[in-house]
Formats: sequence, structure tokens, C-alpha cells
Amino acid sequence: SQPNSPEARDKKFHMHAYTNARRHQEVGPLIIEKGDGIYVEDISGKRYIEAMAGLWSVGVGFSEKRLVDAATRQMSKLPYYHSFTHKGHSPLIDLAEKLVTMAPVPMSKAFFTNSGSEANDTAMKMIWFRSNALGQPERKKIISRKRAYHGVTIASASLTGLPNNHLSFDLPIANVLHTSSPHHWREAQPGETEQQFSTRLADDLEKLILAEGPETIAAMFGEPVMGAGGVVVPPAGYWEKIQAVLRKYDILLVADEVICGFGRTGNMFGSETYAMTPDIMVMSKQISSSYLPISALMINDKVFEPIADESNRIGTFGHGFTAGGHPVAAAVALENLKIIEERNLVANAREVGAHMQKRLAKLASHDLVGEVRGVALIGAMELVTDKATKAPWGSVGALGGLVNGILQQNGIISRNMGDALAFCPPLIINDKQVDEIFDAVEKSLDEAAKQVMA
Ligand code: PLP
Repeated sequence: SQPNSPEARDKKFHMHAYTNARRHQEVGPLIIEKGDGIYVEDISGKRYIEAMAGLWSVGVGFSEKRLVDAATRQMSKLPYYHSFTHKGHSPLIDLAEKLVTMAPVPMSKAFFTNSGSEANDTAMKMIWFRSNALGQPERKKIISRKRAYHGVTIASASLTGLPNNHLSFDLPIANVLHTSSPHHWREAQPGETEQQFSTRLADDLEKLILAEGPETIAAMFGEPVMGAGGVVVPPAGYWEKIQAVLRKYDILLVADEVICGFGRTGNMFGSETYAMTPDIMVMSKQISSSYLPISALMINDKVFEPIADESNRIGTFGHGFTAGGHPVAAAVALENLKIIEERNLVANAREVGAHMQKRLAKLASHDLVGEVRGVALIGAMELVTDKATKAPWGSVGALGGLVNGILQQNGIISRNMGDALAFCPPLIINDKQVDEIFDAVEKSLDEAAKQVMA
């Protein structure tokens, strides 16, 4: 490329997120220039279906004029204000009311942050503050799961259960524990049904709680469906059994709805799809279709009341971000939620999602596909060359990366987490566009098979 081309300047000046910097010098960037519905276009004019909705997030697609207008209106009226020390602004009040009203279980208050990671950090601090306020300072341990993804800040990366996020950072921090992951295909014993597997995982959880001392455990975090851990759909009975254990020891449940929230699993929230009754819900991404950064927590009275109780004598909850609940982002989020409701995008996710799951299921018999899994408009196929041993082809992620690269050449942007290749298209997608994705997937798998089975 030319010395002053965007590719050359990218390599020279920009360090990418989650990217091997050395390898980037060989691979180079894919530079996206514009968006149109479920499509994006790169600087050479090549068009792609964005089958990951960006980072699991652009629900209404890449060209929603109403969100642009909502941002412009708010930007002209009041471009910035905050919510520290009793102050506030209308977009925040409207969004707080909207969220609490939408909540699938009784919630008391909404609190605003800027990213999923910050929202999970905030949830941890609320939980710790609450334990202190209740006079139970020993109740500080938080349980997360292997393969979980809750973010990358020091605290949220500790919750994350992926080695890559811990190695080299001396994480997790103290008081964060990880219980077993619900990945049936990878981790069930031979012949173990989903229900049996779920019972065993609930037993694992109870054993961990008893070994640590139930009076030391404050909360458990979980994504209704694990996203970045490889789209791990909970096995039958999982959340029911896990929640029974949490209730037994009076442990709070935090549902990380950062991916599942606002329609992805065919209901407004993943908590509805899996009958979860969280005390805290964490939301981001699809809350604004990621047109602007914003995240939120909802907390119930059980969490809010001890924090608000002045008689606890531990003072004010000293926490908040300069840009938390930014008025322009809040106005965009509010308009985005209106669009999701007015256009019945949750029903669309359920109906078109059923078609996507059918197309995904058809791939299970392909030579390179070990398992397919998903719900509504989120899914993945796990790629292997040896279905019996489930061993990776060469190193973990080599086959996932190969197929992902071929798919990109064929005009589909997907994402491989190791050898799990994920699909999470915008909620506005239709059946025909799903077919466009999966026709390309079939073709790409055949191309890859020719290369690796030769
Ligand atoms: N929680 C979940 C379930 C996520 O998928 C993510 C990001 O992918 C996060 C939290 C972190 O969000 P952010 O990248 O906005 O910090």
C-alpha cells in the first residue's frame, strides 16, 4: 500500500484493541467506511453483511436516521450534564423510568455508566458497599464462571473467566472466584444429559460456597447466554438449579445482559428467556445500538435500600463517572428503545431467529462442524477436524481464524472466539438476509474443508 494510505497510517499510528500487534503488520486493517442497514462497506467499496452487529451491539442496523436526529436534537439543546450531587437532566430521568418500567422483575433504580466493563465494576462496588452497610463486611466474595466475559477493567476482567484476560495481569483480584462453565458439548461427561450436567454444575457451585463459607459470599454474576466465551447457551435446567442454590444461601444474582438485553434472545431480556430473577441487571451495547457509548445498571430494593440507608453510618456511595448517563447518549438510547418496541424487533428476533437456528442446525453435519448452538438471533458453530476427540486443528483458533477469513472474503463479517464462530446479526435482519449469510457460510466451510482435509 502507498505510504500515506489509510492502511499504512493505521499500521504506523494505531494500536488495535484485542489484536496481535506484530501480526497486524502482516494482516493489515479492514477499514470500514460506511453503513447501510445490516451492511457495511470498506474503503475499497466492498460490501459486507455485518453478521456480528459490530460487537454484538448494533440492533437497529448501521443507518438509523432517527438516532442521528435524536442525537442532534439533544446536542443542540444540552450537550452535557451530569448526575453528581443531586443534579440531573431529562434524558436520564426518562431513560431511568423507561428501563425500570421495562424490567422483567421488580427493579427499583437505574444507575448510568459508559461501558459494560464499568457497569460490572459498579455492580461489584454496590455489592461490597451493601455488605458493609448491612454490617456484614466479611460478605465480599463474588462468584463468576469459567468462560464468562464481563469486561476488561481490573475488576470486570477478574470476573471474566478467560485465561487471556488474567495471564500477565495478575488477575483475578482477591474475592473473585470462578465456578464451572455450562458448556455441555465441551465439558459434560460421556452420556451425561443436559439436566444431569446442570445438576452437577449446581452441586459444584454449592460445594464452592460451602468450602468458602456461605457467610462470605455476596453475589454471583452470569450472562444469561455466554457471548465472548463462545456463545454458550445454558443447558436445560441450568439457571433454575443455580438459582435454587443462590436462594438457599441468600446470595445476590447479577444478570449481565450486555449482549442478551433488548431482544437478542427473542425476549426483551435474556433473564426472561431463562426465567432468571436477578437483583441487579447490567446493560450496554444494544441499549443505544452502540451509536453512542452508554451502559446502565438496574438494582432492586434489596440492593438499593441498604445503600441508601443513612443509619448505616458508612457514608455516601462514592462512585460515579463524569460522562455516566451523558445526555446525548441517553437521548439516543431512549429513541433506540422506542424503535425496538415500535418495530417489534423483539418478535423479529424470535421469528427470524428461528430461521437462523434452522440454517445453523443444517451445518451440524458438515465435516468441519463439531457443534452448533444458539437461541433466536445469537448462535455459533464450533469448528473441529476431528469430531470424535474434539481436538483443535493445529492450535486453538487456527481453524476458526481460517474460516472467519474465508467468510470475510465472501462478504460476511463474523467473529471467531477460538474455534467457535459466532453470528449475532442486527435485530432488523430478515429471512432472506439470513439465507445470504448461511449460503456464504456453507460455501466458505466447503472451501476451508478443501484446504484442511486435503
Ligand atoms: N459483559 C458482556 C456480557 C460483554 O459481552 C461485554 C463486551 O463484550 C462486556 C460486559 C464489556 O463491555 P465493554 O466492552 O463495553 O466494556
